[in-house]
Amino acid sequence: MERFLDYFVPDHYNLDLSIDKFKKTIEGKVNVVGKALNETIKFHAVGLKISKVMVNGKDAEFKTDGQVLEVYNVFLSSAVDIIIEYSGTLNDNMEGAYLSTYEYEGRKEIIVTTQFESHYAREAFPCVDEPAAKATFHLSIKIPKQEGEIVLSNMPSSKVDLGEYERYNFASTPKMSTYLLAWVIGRFHGKTVKNKHGVEITTYCALNQDVDSVDFANEIAAKSLEFYDDNFGVKYPLWKLDQVALPDFEAGAMENWGLVTYRESMLLVGKVASLGAKKAVAVTVAHELSHQWFGDLVTMEWWDDLWLNESFASVMEYYAVDAIHPEYKIFESFFTSDCYAALLRDAHLGVQSVHQDVKTPEEIATLFDGAIVYAKGARLMLMTIRLMGWKNFCKGISDYFEKFKYQNAVGDDLWNSLKPYADFDPKKLMHAFIDKPGYPVITNEGENFKKFSQKRFILDGGPMKEESWPIPEVMEDMSGHYVLNLSETEFKERLEKFDKLELEEKLRLLIDRDLITQSGLQSAASLVPLALEFKDEDAPAVWNKVAALVGNLKIYFNSESPEEKMLKKYTLKLVDKKLAEVGMKTRKGDDEDTIRLRANLMGLDYFAEDVERFKELIKLYDTNAEKMDPEIRDDILGAKVYLEPEVIDEYLEKYKTIADPDIKFDYLAAAALVKDEKQLEKVFALLGDYEVVKPQDQLYLFIYLYRNPKTKARTFEWMTKNWESIKGTGGEKTLSDYPMLTARLMRTEEELEKYVKFFGPMRDEPAVSRAIMIGENEIKARVKMIKKYREAVAKELEKYI
Ligand SMILES: [Zn+2]
Repeated sequence: MERFLDYFVPDHYNLDLSIDKFKKTIEGKVNVVGKALNETIKFHAVGLKISKVMVNGKDAEFKTDGQVLEVYNVFLSSAVDIIIEYSGTLNDNMEGAYLSTYEYEGRKEIIVTTQFESHYAREAFPCVDEPAAKATFHLSIKIPKQEGEIVLSNMPSSKVDLGEYERYNFASTPKMSTYLLAWVIGRFHGKTVKNKHGVEITTYCALNQDVDSVDFANEIAAKSLEFYDDNFGVKYPLWKLDQVALPDFEAGAMENWGLVTYRESMLLVGKVASLGAKKAVAVTVAHELSHQWFGDLVTMEWWDDLWLNESFASVMEYYAVDAIHPEYKIFESFFTSDCYAALLRDAHLGVQSVHQDVKTPEEIATLFDGAIVYAKGARLMLMTIRLMGWKNFCKGISDYFEKFKYQNAVGDDLWNSLKPYADFDPKKLMHAFIDKPGYPVITNEGENFKKFSQKRFILDGGPMKEESWPIPEVMEDMSGHYVLNLSETEFKERLEKFDKLELEEKLRLLIDRDLITQSGLQSAASLVPLALEFKDEDAPAVWNKVAALVGNLKIYFNSESPEEKMLKKYTLKLVDKKLAEVGMKTRKGDDEDTIRLRANLMGLDYFAEDVERFKELIKLYDTNAEKMDPEIRDDILGAKVYLEPEVIDEYLEKYKTIADPDIKFDYLAAAALVKDEKQLEKVFALLGDYEVVKPQDQLYLFIYLYRNPKTKARTFEWMTKNWESIKGTGGEKTLSDYPMLTARLMRTEEELEKYVKFFGPMRDEPAVSRAIMIGENEIKARVKMIKKYREAVAKELEKYI
């Protein structure tokens, strides 16, 4: 693919912008100095009106087609001075320079913000919008003067009063990629802290949010930067760090250097927050801040190595949070969520490899397959770190940062930096796992895996494929990206000494068995007695996996069928004893483990429709959300709406008026659980109603309603009819979530038919093609499995109720 960097190498940009959020316009003069390697040079400029181009002080000939700006007859020189005058618009589709809004004291507040990763800087100003085109940026922004307006960018600024306007001049950035430039303009409030190493950190939120809700993020940010300073060898290179919670945001967060932007739910922690909400914020902040080094200081050469940024950040977030809050036992979430998600996704034919060639911008958007680029990549990174040891890994990483800072690198540069500190070849090992999709299923051939055979593990109902990976040693902890296919004897042996196993060994045993039964290598009926083995278990992470086993049994039966009723009874039996022991309410002195254990048990109990407990739970209901115990608030709301569906009106009112993102979503999620058709109608009406449910949150609502058996078919139908509008408002990256997530809950021939009928014609559209192919395979395999084992599972259940 053509790279514009081959024609012109920018060195410094002077961006003189005039931004008017009321007129939704951006006008600018870009002065870029750099090296011309060709007489025709090109800039990315999408949707921008170019009015004038000057080269070295003289008017230049140029052409633009709304995508690319071509400038002709440029003198080949190492210091070409180019001025481009242009204008553009601020959009509301959450990319480029966009508008975000919120209500405060009856007024609509408008924010201007940016999202430039991966290729949207070109929608805000003409530039060579490629990660290797690193340059320094001097930014100046003029805005109409507004009381209380805050203007932020990567660097600190000084303000000049111009009467009706004001101008903010920002200090020049270090050398960096265009996708990391950012600015935010709007009315916010925030708090500043200084960490032990002297970095000033300010976290901002919209005025309708409680200003104290930034405290937790400030603490995590301060300590994460210290942790990385201490371990990465190179200190945080900027003068300050700002973090901003934005009311409209497509992804979870964005690591703009020195100005990290977040979805509100990923940054703010209210007065009454659950442990789960805090943990989500902690790992998100730690993730973004590790990118300040890995991604921002050293950047991938091209998007095919995006995984390098994300895999690294996705494992580092756990190391940092584990160091800051060891009581969270955050690695357990990594094993039960991330590793499990990677194993599930990576077992389908057609899945992408971690390292993937990309050429077009559309392909870049589909590269963000979370389970592969983030989760699988992170697990492979963990494997390397464990094999090397943390200290040795940090030595290698320090060398890497020192050598490549303010530059670009490829995967092999990292492996080469690690090699001197490893007693194996990291490059060889990683290439074997990242360059091709999938992972092995391993069978013992003697002496506890000293000898073993392997094949590629497939969840598509077909036979396992002849393929192999170089595995230095088979480990039974959670570090290896493979599945162990234990014989019945081997499995029973481990189960008998379960109490003596390490937690990671316990998790592997359960996760592997889960996958093996999903593949059909073992009957799913074997899960029925297995789950019951754990009814006295205390470890929340083990319960998390037991819940997954029950989830696998759910797919075998129609909603509200006699068999499903049987499964519910069985589930109640499974959780009853332990739940009685820990109780439904948080007790004084409960540690994090107990809180997590209770949450897992209550989730299963809800599925079991335990009406007796629901009646107890709703006694804890309070119309003031802040008065309910945050750890079981979702359970209380779920029980209430189950017993009293008419509470929906109150829930939706709360959703509309409460600002705290965590509480707000508990109401929406609970509202979508209702079974009463008339009440459900009110929730369904919010699909596509962007005034009430912001575009960034529509996917959540969609999934909530899709999970409700009463609205599942209708929700899919709604999607097919509104596909064009979903495409236009949801953002490029989330589009593939629709074929991916709908496939996950489909289990009949009719559903498969509907899926293929709608998505089939889109098989060639790059943004969704892979998701559709995998989705189709997945449903086919599930239909096959259900046919094969449905009766056996039902029979087995009968024995235990
Ligand atoms: Zn990231």
